[in-house]
Amino acid sequence: MVDDDGDLQYGIYSSTEATIWQLSVDNSGFSTPVARTDPDGDPLDTPFDTSDWDENDWENYTSKVSRWGAPSASFRPISGEMANTFPQDEGWIVDGNEDEVYRLSQLSINRVTKILTARRKGSGPPNCEKKWHEVLFLLPDTIPWKIIWRSIGTFLTSPADEKVWWCLLHRKMYVVSHDAKWPSDKCRACGRHRESILHLTDCNRFRKVKLWILEALTILGVDTSNLSWHFAWIFGVDSNWKLLPEVPRALLRLAWRAFMADLTKVRREKTIYKPENTIKYLASLFASRILAYQESNNLFYLGRRYSALKFHLPRSAANKVASLGELDLHSGELTITVDLRGLLDDQGAWTDFNESPAPAN
Ligand SMILES: [Zn+2]
Repeated sequence: MVDDDGDLQYGIYSSTEATIWQLSVDNSGFSTPVARTDPDGDPLDTPFDTSDWDENDWENYTSKVSRWGAPSASFRPISGEMANTFPQDEGWIVDGNEDEVYRLSQLSINRVTKILTARRKGSGPPNCEKKWHEVLFLLPDTIPWKIIWRSIGTFLTSPADEKVWWCLLHRKMYVVSHDAKWPSDKCRACGRHRESILHLTDCNRFRKVKLWILEALTILGVDTSNLSWHFAWIFGVDSNWKLLPEVPRALLRLAWRAFMADLTKVRREKTIYKPENTIKYLASLFASRILAYQESNNLFYLGRRYSALKFHLPRSAANKVASLGELDLHSGELTITVDLRGLLDDQGAWTDFNESPAPAN
């Protein structure tokens, strides 16, 4: 509704009780009732009484709001006034199929991938699946493609972070040997071998980066003695084709992003490839993604702090990030492990995650 000053205000309307509780809503859509509460969290103030409002009042002064997420979600940020909010969360269909109506908030990368995979049905598996078996000399159907395609998207990486790795899986990654406009087919890193997708998985100039990644994976709890470098580096799995946990997978995808960015730079600036630069860039990417995760937790917490609702992150959240450090389920604060801190610090990428204004209590 619009107040006397013409500003938009939000509230929760109860038709049975004929009341409106005014809400305070922050930029991220988190809302809390505007009311003082007693130590038990019960409101001391009373809501607006709407029993004497007539129909015109409703039409002139109020409108519905859009929220983000399914009604069953424990937590649904307010997107804005329904008439002025686009896109709305509700009511999306895919390929004209009206039997399945989605919410945008449901459309995680995983789900979009499933939808796109289903759309591809009938035309068979993509060529890249067969080709990877060939170049790695694997028996047909060795690679668990279903699991690998579904593993796209981690809580630490964005679609942009995963793009290089995604192209690699599809064998659509840029290599100079496929570039007619580039005078040489020699690897941009070592300058000796033909640059192919496979060569980039074991170029000797990449060795230092590989050792750093293996050290990082060990710190993240991966048993590297049970790794086949090719399988881990290309597909994100261990030597038994079992998917690595989400955090190590995120690191490997960021590593592909960092590696490609450096190779592009080498070509553009006509310099020599330095593995140290890739390591530095990878460390800073990884640190910034952890920081972003930490900040989103913090926002979550700030949104709930004055709410009457008691709020804790689910235990699964702590398990998910256990390899990074300890997550306080109440405050959302993540204390990263000493080893990981040291690893990032050595690359000048360490940020004191908890130094950013931590809320008192
Ligand atoms: Zn090379």
